Amino acid sequence: MQSVVYKNYINGEYVESSSGERFVDNNPADTDDVLGYFQLSTREDAKNAISAALEAWEKWSETPPGERGRILIKASEILDSMREELVNILTMEEGKTLNDSRVEINRAISLFRFYGVLASRIHGESLHSSELRTHLITIREPIGVVSVITPWNFPAAIPSWKIAPALACGNTVVFKPASYTPLIGYLLVEALIKAGIPKGVINYVTGSGTTVGLEMITSKNVDAITFTGSLEVGEEIRRLSATSGKNIRIQLELGGKNPAIILPDADIDKAVEMVARGAFGLTGQVCTATSRAIVIDKIADEFIRKIVERAKKFRVGNGLKEGIDIGPVVGQRELEKILSYISIGISEGAKLVTGGKRLTGGEYDKGYFVEPTVFTEVSPDMRIAREEIFGPVLSVITASSFDEAIDIANSVEYGLAASIFTNSLDKAFEFMKRIKAGVVKINKPTTGIEIQVPFGGFKKSSSETFRELGETVLDFYTKIKTIYIGY
Ligand code: NAD
Repeated sequence: MQSVVYKNYINGEYVESSSGERFVDNNPADTDDVLGYFQLSTREDAKNAISAALEAWEKWSETPPGERGRILIKASEILDSMREELVNILTMEEGKTLNDSRVEINRAISLFRFYGVLASRIHGESLHSSELRTHLITIREPIGVVSVITPWNFPAAIPSWKIAPALACGNTVVFKPASYTPLIGYLLVEALIKAGIPKGVINYVTGSGTTVGLEMITSKNVDAITFTGSLEVGEEIRRLSATSGKNIRIQLELGGKNPAIILPDADIDKAVEMVARGAFGLTGQVCTATSRAIVIDKIADEFIRKIVERAKKFRVGNGLKEGIDIGPVVGQRELEKILSYISIGISEGAKLVTGGKRLTGGEYDKGYFVEPTVFTEVSPDMRIAREEIFGPVLSVITASSFDEAIDIANSVEYGLAASIFTNSLDKAFEFMKRIKAGVVKINKPTTGIEIQVPFGGFKKSSSETFRELGETVLDFYTKIKTIYIGY
């Protein structure tokens, strides 16, 4: 691929950063493969983008919802027409396999269509009053300028599930993609531009979180922040956003340490397959990845033998190639973090039963490849059982009973996704009620979500304010006004 310089998109124009500096976007499976150079933007650039969004807001908020929806549906069609190109770019930029990229691009296309259709169905309520000759109605109004800050692991789907509903509701957007994956975000914005989005309604600024991001979370001209990323940055955003002096609305979707409980009455082979996919699929770089398998002790030996066999079968390599199951991790920093957690696990006394190393030699030397890794003899208080690793590392913990398994599952500070494998309806229901997680799966992997239902975590996995996806997300992107009509 020929590498090009990509610009920011502010107030309807492609512009360079005032810094005059750029950063490189390369392929984590082959770092010699450069996808492009992006603007290392300044706070001034972010300010300009926010001003443009503020200026465009009134007109866009008054644009009939059907017209806003038409632009989103058109953007979906444009993305659809370049589907295979996007699939290839996503694999080259983020590293996931072509199959996984196809799933994600399809999701982005569906999201623009879903919220395009929903735009003209955004509605309030009509209620009876307790007084005579009075009627009550509620209407939804857009909130204003929305800062959209996203991670690199789903660089097409996550921006789409924030930008599309924000625009459908009549808000204007300043979007900062993660610096590992700016190109996919650029192409989403380009589709909106081609679909006819008016100037200033969507603005795209690349650069670091601590400059561009800082302005986007502290500006008094921003009305809402939607952020997906790590717990550390999420907590910083929660703290800093309070300094804008404005009652800003925030939605934070953060990390996970997702458990899968395997009971003796489960179909063990099915559980092994689902846990393996949840733990190692997408190289474990998923907020809902299975990172703890909590197994009842009498089936632990069988489960461990089978999960180790399955882990060894994952073919790791460049996601562009046929027959590859999982690609590289996204960068040097992430690789080092994963390897350091593996050392921590060993030093804490857990038993490394497979994997544990960076893959080297031949083409592996060009990228950041790591073996699917399984630890056993993990106790719930070890760091590898509590902290998010965000790589293909599974900790197997044994429990002597269902109650103990639930307690272990709930013992971490995160609460994003959780699974149980059982054939007992009783146990499945009890799990559903007692587990502290926002996404609960029965006989399914912790990973994999659908767009028409709410998504978000409990505890530190989420701001616990507003959910994403489905129709529920409209609560975040609109304000409700209650009107009393006397006649
Ligand atoms: P990250 O927190 O490092 O970065 C996320 C985004 O925030 C990036 O665009 C980054 O540039 C920006 N940023 C960084 N510092 C900032 C600051 N001080 N102010 C404003 N913005 C700042 O996360 P990441 O490494 O890109 O993504 C991985 C993390 O995302 C994992 O923890 C994962 O669990 C989480 N994640 C959560 C969900 C979910 O829905 N809960 C989904 C996907 C990923």
